[in-house]
Amino acid sequence: MNRNYQQEMDAYIQEVTETGSKPPRLLLHSCCAPCSSYCIEYLCEFLEITVFYYNPNISESEEYKKRVVEQKRLIECYNSEIVSGSRKGFKISVVEGDYDPQDFFDIAKGYENCPERGERCHRCYELRLRRTAEYMRETGGFDCFATTLTLSPLKDSDKINEIGERLSAEYGVMFLVSDFKKKNGYLRSIELSKEYDLYRQDYCGCVYSKAQRQREKAEKERKQE
Ligand code: SF4
Repeated sequence: MNRNYQQEMDAYIQEVTETGSKPPRLLLHSCCAPCSSYCIEYLCEFLEITVFYYNPNISESEEYKKRVVEQKRLIECYNSEIVSGSRKGFKISVVEGDYDPQDFFDIAKGYENCPERGERCHRCYELRLRRTAEYMRETGGFDCFATTLTLSPLKDSDKINEIGERLSAEYGVMFLVSDFKKKNGYLRSIELSKEYDLYRQDYCGCVYSKAQRQREKAEKERKQE
């Protein structure tokens, strides 16, 4: 039977809210500001979030820098709203992980031509989630970890949750399953991106996804001629 990851996440939130104890500390791996906008909005009322920005898959450093700046700017905006009381929630922290694109190229080797959602992406999800789980274990400062990756309709949430749960067992840390695209999460992220004027890229992040998007655009234009 298919699992409903959104419902499982909501059940966890309800459970921790009902106990009335200190809010759990969540290490939230984020792929970019637009995707995180909804995930943070959804969770920050119940959990104390630290955003972990670890994305060596973004092959071009200029692009990487742009995305980091946007991630930090969004969190600053949310925090100022939380402080002023116009947004309900706990203040959000952010940690930037190491950036070495070679870490991505190593795991993508031999899978360069896979289409999006294929084996290259599965390895890419694992690279990023593994580092998040490692960071959680190293610091010992969090109750669970999760990822914004399940927001995108282009990503395989079953695979992401399967990897997260495997790493959870391997590192002895709790993984909070999710499917942020449910409850119109993806649409809400587009609204929030407009509201905060976030830089929104049209490809996932690696050079292979950029080339794939360019091919798709060229094909679309060719058909319209
Ligand atoms: S398309 Fe996205 S998820 Fe897939 S390998 Fe590239 S950066 Fe990673």
